[in-house]
Formats: sequence, structure tokens, C-alpha cells
Amino acid sequence: MLVWLAENAPTAEVRHPADFLPAEIAERAQEALARSPEPPPAQEPVERRCADCMKLPAKPGIRAVEIGTDAVCDMCGSSANKRAALAMIEAFRTRGLRRLLVVGGGPGTAEDLRRLLAGEVDIRIVDGEGHRNAAKADADLRWADVVAVWSSTILSHKVSKLYTDRRDAFGGKLVTVPRRGVAALCMAVIEKVGLTTW
Ligand SMILES: [Zn+2]
Repeated sequence: MLVWLAENAPTAEVRHPADFLPAEIAERAQEALARSPEPPPAQEPVERRCADCMKLPAKPGIRAVEIGTDAVCDMCGSSANKRAALAMIEAFRTRGLRRLLVVGGGPGTAEDLRRLLAGEVDIRIVDGEGHRNAAKADADLRWADVVAVWSSTILSHKVSKLYTDRRDAFGGKLVTVPRRGVAALCMAVIEKVGLTTW
């Protein structure tokens, strides 16, 4: 029995890991720990945002903290398209608008727009080379809160004319976007919404 105990019982002397460290390193570790600030107790969640996204309202219960240009933004992922889309969503929300009609734009941009605005802005996209008649264009114009005519993209004159010809009745909704790209479209729409008294 005594022999068994002697062989199997834990040794009384359990060595602390620090005992294995050279004294100098242990000392430095102690110092580093002493310097580091106390971990904040149950802190509110933080969202790291780029300067542009800082302009957007904070989410409830989440504190927005501005980051430098070299860091990735939690909101837009540092994507110019997403940033512009977020700003447009906010502009629509502020103005109580919901429906965006886009006339023209390639298949890729249409997909991007739908993805970026999903669940936030109702979007209808008119194929710039498709067939549209005046009655359909009229229904589109009535439906929309803002109509963006994307003149720099694949857009036949026949199609765009259906919309721009109704400037007398719907001019307040119409904005012509001369530049390509999702970000350019969103910025033009924001400007339009900002300048129009709804
Ligand atoms: Zn951002």
C-alpha cells in the first residue's frame, strides 16, 4: 500500500509555470500586465466606421467609432458602392421614400443595385434596350418616388424618351445620371432627393 501511494499520489510540490521562466522575462511579463488597462466591464458593442459611414445614424445600442482610411469599415466594408448605397438608403428613409426606378444600366449593375438595396428600397429596373410602351412607362413613373435615367449606360433613345418626355408631369422625380457605376447613381439620387422639396 505504501509503495503504491508513493508511486501514484500526486507530488506535493506542484511547480508554478512561472518557475520555469527566467526571472527577467517573468518580470517583464508582470510589468506588461500591470501596464495594460483593466478590461472594460460588459462594454456596449462598438461598430468601427469610416468617416463617411460616421455620418449615418448609429444603430440602437451600438456605439460608432471612427477608424482610419487603412482599416476596414464594419458598415460598408470599405466599398465605395456599398457606402453610396447605404447613404442613399438613409436619404430615402429620411425623406420617407421607398421606390426607386432605374432606367438603363447593365445586367451587372442591376444585380449589384438589387443586392445593395435589398429590403431597404424597392427598386424597379427598366432594361435600356428592352421593349417598353408609353402606358408601361407611365405606370412606372407613377409607381416610383425617384426616377433615375442612367444616360451613360446601355440605354436606347427610344426607351429613355418614354420617361424623359413626361418631364412636365413627373419632372420632380426625374434625375439624369451622366456617370457610370453604382456609386455614381446613388450619389446622383441622393443629390436629387436632397434638392427636391417632397
Ligand atoms: Zn464605411
